[in-house]
Amino acid sequence: MTSTHPPGPSTPLLVVDDVGHSYGEGPNAHRAIDRLSFTVNAGEFVSIVGPSGAGKTTLLRILAGLMRPTRGTVSLSGAVVDSVPPGMAMVFQDYSRSLLPWLTVGKNVAFSLRGDDHTPAERRELVEESIAAVGLVGHEHRYPWQLSGGMQQRVAIARALAYQPTLLLMDEPFASVDAQTRAGLEDLVLRIRDRLEVTILFVTHDVDESVYLADRVLVLSRPPSTVAAELLVPLPSPRDQIATKELAEFVALRSQVARLIQNVDPALDPRLDDAVAS
Ligand code: ADP
Repeated sequence: MTSTHPPGPSTPLLVVDDVGHSYGEGPNAHRAIDRLSFTVNAGEFVSIVGPSGAGKTTLLRILAGLMRPTRGTVSLSGAVVDSVPPGMAMVFQDYSRSLLPWLTVGKNVAFSLRGDDHTPAERRELVEESIAAVGLVGHEHRYPWQLSGGMQQRVAIARALAYQPTLLLMDEPFASVDAQTRAGLEDLVLRIRDRLEVTILFVTHDVDESVYLADRVLVLSRPPSTVAAELLVPLPSPRDQIATKELAEFVALRSQVARLIQNVDPALDPRLDDAVAS
């Protein structure tokens, strides 16, 4: 299975140009995003990290075409996003609500392919390859409720992969699983990304995770948000949960991100203070 676009080192796949968003109108309007401009290149892994309330969910809703921004534009592969764009898939934090409990693992994964142009044989192959990519071969006939939380999130990832997305949006996808499962899922996503050359935009409030996974980290300011900083992550690949996190470059980068967020507003999210202190 390959991604639907050839990766190019500096081809902007996603362009977020001067995007702002306010909820409501008039004197009661609430400005969630001030002005955000950034790009994601084909084949890149970009993390967005920011305190709670920084507008991360609002931004993802706009990128996914679920909501129009009140200013600015988003383009994917050169086309302005003004409704749910083809080629975008999303993995949410809440896997239990994103999977259909009455469908088996195989049918949940196949669900993303309903109504497309694939032949039944191609569809079967995509489902099998996606299930293999997340290490769930042998579990195709089980139901989501028969699986652990980490396995359910792997089903949700397989479903997104079967769709062969141009851009995969991940919204705090591992925030609801335990630390060990989380580390395994992080490495799984990195392996999938290398093998399938998927472009990923990954939203998290976890400083370590944002650095460990990404080629580039965007740090959002407090609301109304802007991009407070953009950091390149020149850490060697493949990454390793222990060896990478011992590297001086990793330690320096995580401190830099944590400090940036603390400067944004330490009172906004105490979890981020812990990241600085630890
Ligand atoms: P994050 O995901 O970073 O926690 P959100 O995008 O959920 O941030 O929220 C950004 C800001 O916009 C917050 O102040 C939040 O209260 C506000 N907000 C989010 N959704 C709505 C909505 N539907 N109506 C009004 N305000 C909203």
